[in-house]
Amino acid sequence: MDSVGVAADAGPGSAWRSKCPWGAPNTTSISCSFADVMSEQLAKELQLEEENAAFPEVVAVAEGPFITGENTDTSSDLMLAQMLQMEFDREYDAQLRREEKKINGDSKVSISFENYRKVHPYDSDSSEDEVDWQDTRHDPYRADKPTTTPRRGFIGKGKDITTKHDEVVCGRKNTARMENFAPEFQVGDGIGMDLKLSNQVFNALKQHAYSEERRSARLHEKKEHSTAEKAVDPKTRLLMYKMINSGMLETITGCISTGKESVVFHAYGGENATEDKVIPPECAIKVFKTTLNEFKNRDKYIKDDYRFKDRFGRLNPRKIIRMWAEKEMHNLTRMQNAGIPCPKVVLLKKHVLVMSFIGQDQVPAPKLKDVTLSSEDMKKAYHQILNMMQQLYKECNLVHADLSEYNMLWHDGKVWLIDVSQSVEPTHPHGLEFLFRDCRNVSQFFQKGGVAEALNERELFNAVSGLNITADNEVDFQEEIEALEKRNEDHVQNHRKKLSRFSSSGDPPIFDE
Ligand code: ADP
Ligand code: MG
Repeated sequence: MDSVGVAADAGPGSAWRSKCPWGAPNTTSISCSFADVMSEQLAKELQLEEENAAFPEVVAVAEGPFITGENTDTSSDLMLAQMLQMEFDREYDAQLRREEKKINGDSKVSISFENYRKVHPYDSDSSEDEVDWQDTRHDPYRADKPTTTPRRGFIGKGKDITTKHDEVVCGRKNTARMENFAPEFQVGDGIGMDLKLSNQVFNALKQHAYSEERRSARLHEKKEHSTAEKAVDPKTRLLMYKMINSGMLETITGCISTGKESVVFHAYGGENATEDKVIPPECAIKVFKTTLNEFKNRDKYIKDDYRFKDRFGRLNPRKIIRMWAEKEMHNLTRMQNAGIPCPKVVLLKKHVLVMSFIGQDQVPAPKLKDVTLSSEDMKKAYHQILNMMQQLYKECNLVHADLSEYNMLWHDGKVWLIDVSQSVEPTHPHGLEFLFRDCRNVSQFFQKGGVAEALNERELFNAVSGLNITADNEVDFQEEIEALEKRNEDHVQNHRKKLSRFSSSGDPPIFDE
């Protein structure tokens, strides 16, 4: 019989094992008609194989009859019917997949006929060998880690849920998570569609949603609040006009500097000395940029500063920028009180800080990096700075945290410290690290500048802080610094508790003022 021949040629059912018994096998040259396949003998063999693979519990019941060859008809009919149904369902499912593919094309969002599929209990096993519709869309789970996927799929999903189902759940979850995107982000109306997004598609959408959100925030920012190059936004301009109108300032002559975080203007002081305030003849107006980009990197200076900690979490970014201005004001005042040469605070209004101008006739004093000093002056400047750093640390309880030749001005034969908005107390969680960085900048500048007696950064650190860190190399030194900072944190906590008893208004506690 042909059908027997087919079975024999192909080995004992080997060609059939992986393929469907009813499909036209490619492995044999003999074409196999449906009638041939229906032959009892072949059917018995195939049944056995299929049963072993797919219906182990049914096989246990039907085992006897197949082996003995008796009473095969009934069992065989049932089995054949089931197998025929299986094959029919598979073909049906394959057709659905083809339809899906046709409809979805290369579209990133796909629709699924999953709910219409005929799911068989063995499907979860056999589907691993098949090309699943999700695979064709580069599902990252399957493509990258095919062996771990099933195990992962079971975790926390219950024992009856297979990988395939897991993906479905995942897809639906991803669709639901689109709700979290910004309201402006159009995700379409997927209600009732049973939309499933693969992780890859969802992640791409999420990325896009976030970048859109940032972009629109930037645009908004630009339009309403930008402190663009050399210009200020209308609100800031109004603040500055008010200062002139009140007689506090005479005129604003122009811009001295546009930095990353601020724009600094020169102004002539007005006649109107209010209260006990004497307005200097020349003023510097530091406008803290209300664009947030640069301040994001500086969060750590302020959010760990216990003076501002209580308020930091509650404030919106615009108010946080005002806090920078406020911080500069407080720090300058402390320095002023300690007699450190620095600008004198005149007025703080929101994010605009008015202080005395270091320089003359609209010409700001040069930064140390831009001035060529005689070796004598260089030496003088070094000793002055060493002294100022000690004062800052001991008397003001501050670490500059951005000390370098860029933030030191040379005026009237001495060094003036500016730009202290980021300055922190030594007990700040990173205070000593900031101090070490300051010491490195200072020591390198003066060593390069030919000051023979300039201490190296470790010696300078000890000289300023009064700490006696003995490590003779930078790595160990920094490790010791970090260990000290950890210990300091306890101290800060205690200090905060103590202070909170005195400061019920939520204002930053002010020292030495
Ligand atoms: P930024 O945070 O942008 O560096 P700074 O406080 O360092 O802001 O100010 C930027 C520049 O503006 C300084 O380098 C200095 O040239 C000038 N400047 C700032 N404050 C004064 C001042 N009080 N007198 C004179 N010039 C100043
Ligand atoms: Mg600066």
